[in-house]
Amino acid sequence: MRLFPLLAFGTLLLPVAAQANDPNSYAEPDQVRVTHLDLDLTIDFPHQQLAGQATLKLDWQNPQAQSLVLDTRDLKIARIEALAADGKATPLQYALAPRDQQLGSKLTIATPKHPAQVRIVYATTPEASGLQWLTPAQTADKKAPFMFSQSESIHARSWVPLQDSPAIRFTYDAHVSAPKNIRVVMSAINDATHPLDGDFTFDQPHPIPSYLLAIAAGDLAVKETGPRSAVYAEPSVVDKAAHEFEDTEKLIEATEKLYGPYAWGRYDILVLPPSFPFGGMENPNMTFATPTVLVGDKSLVSLVSHELAHSWSGNLVTSAAWRDIWLNEGFTTYVQGRITEAVYGKSQADEEALLSARALQKSIGAMAENAQKLAPDPRGVGADDALSDVAYDKGSWFLRTLEQRFGRADFDAYLKGYFAHFAWHSITTEQMLDYMKPNLIEKYPGKMSWDEVKAWVYGEGIPKDAPLPDSPRFDAIDRERSDFLAGTLAADKLDAKGWNTQEWMYFLDRLPDAPALDKMQQLDAAWHLTGTPNAEIGMRWYSHAIAAGDKAVWNAAAEHMTRIGRIYLTTPLYKALVKTPDGLTFAEQVYAKAKAGYHPLTQQVVERIIAKAKKVD
Ligand SMILES: [Zn+2]
Repeated sequence: MRLFPLLAFGTLLLPVAAQANDPNSYAEPDQVRVTHLDLDLTIDFPHQQLAGQATLKLDWQNPQAQSLVLDTRDLKIARIEALAADGKATPLQYALAPRDQQLGSKLTIATPKHPAQVRIVYATTPEASGLQWLTPAQTADKKAPFMFSQSESIHARSWVPLQDSPAIRFTYDAHVSAPKNIRVVMSAINDATHPLDGDFTFDQPHPIPSYLLAIAAGDLAVKETGPRSAVYAEPSVVDKAAHEFEDTEKLIEATEKLYGPYAWGRYDILVLPPSFPFGGMENPNMTFATPTVLVGDKSLVSLVSHELAHSWSGNLVTSAAWRDIWLNEGFTTYVQGRITEAVYGKSQADEEALLSARALQKSIGAMAENAQKLAPDPRGVGADDALSDVAYDKGSWFLRTLEQRFGRADFDAYLKGYFAHFAWHSITTEQMLDYMKPNLIEKYPGKMSWDEVKAWVYGEGIPKDAPLPDSPRFDAIDRERSDFLAGTLAADKLDAKGWNTQEWMYFLDRLPDAPALDKMQQLDAAWHLTGTPNAEIGMRWYSHAIAAGDKAVWNAAAEHMTRIGRIYLTTPLYKALVKTPDGLTFAEQVYAKAKAGYHPLTQQVVERIIAKAKKVD
């Protein structure tokens, strides 16, 4: 997933479930493991629900096991039955525990006879945390309703009863009924020529963890971008998206050259409505992406490099628990940089690495000690909170450090071997380290000590000697920014005409937290930042202008906050507003209007920001 720096709200202390290996799941994989899921669902837009059945194929681990325990959240269970080899169904007793706020409701099914398959007949509720339902008015084309899932971290359980832990992998197939003229897509091979007859089937033959289970449905057009890639988007968006993502095949080829063949067959991209809470989600075969990267100049295509990189780091080799998520996101952010370098050049890759490293340097000191670690104590980390910029940016910084110490050729060979060794498995940080020790650290002695490795993985902060890439263009921007702030360079004399998105991001990122109001007004007069269609620039501009007390930007900021539901691009504006009583009142007004268009996850984050500000008052 790509969220970008965000969510540093301190970490939630989770109740530790009975299961020792994944505190965020009730599943008991030492008793029984789900190996295949067969879904049969009907999409009901008016009632905002998926209804149907999930049939789970089971591999019993413990001969004494008495029950199958599944994760659910807000599901309505109609009945549960055991299926014999001949298809004969026998009803099973079950108990649905009261809802835990983080984990949902533990579903315990009595299965003393160890059936080979169990079928659960159920429906979702409109509150499902992993689904968003949009009315036609909330889409780009305003013609048809739209729905999509976001299962990472622990939201698959809100639309399918299953063992919702990344440690457990299963294959799946699905039959989905939908209204006519609606296209359904899933995290499986999709057929671009499928008729819109309301009757879709899917097959994912590779074992995936539950957080990669995905579905979306709406008025979707398709356009090929290469021999094994296409974009899916609303008809008014599809051409723009196909243009922005026209390098997809080049990106796949560049990654294959580095780390071996792409294992999944097709690589398609679904562009969602602007309420998608994240930048992208690496659903297998079908990346889900925010439309905020469609800026016309490919400057934000690194999002595709990121999601594509997950086809190796994350989807092929998966972190076994949320505490180990840096194995997905840190490795992926590193690979993303390598793809960007291969296709768009070293300068672009270095700029992106520097942007994230500088932002992390600024933010990490304010985090709780446990949250500063790549592999934190799991008891202090909630599943969604584990996805912080430490996992992404400290993780990728560690890998860039390894590359620098061991040399690119040897490190590339090591990483390619790592992906091949653990392909189709879910692993812990400790399993990764057990592999790294003989295959990298001890194989090339004298390059990095084991203590240094442990300091990166289990230590707080960022090691002092962590290398940073050079960027002469960023250095020049640093000089211009300080001259401008010192008053020796006028805003309209900044050499910003040729700045790309990353260069503007860098300029704005490193302004003082609360800049002087007249400076912000001069910048806006010279460069017309208020009203920018580029949401990356807008997010940084509005949050600094609001912090400077520039009320003239409030209405444009409100438009940005209402149009975009992506957590990373919208919530910093709420955080900037709630710092003053007037701003808090305004933020509440904006949220009242914007809420209906936000994903449940975005709503949660904004409500936490507002509640926290009110407590302080
Ligand atoms: Zn990611």
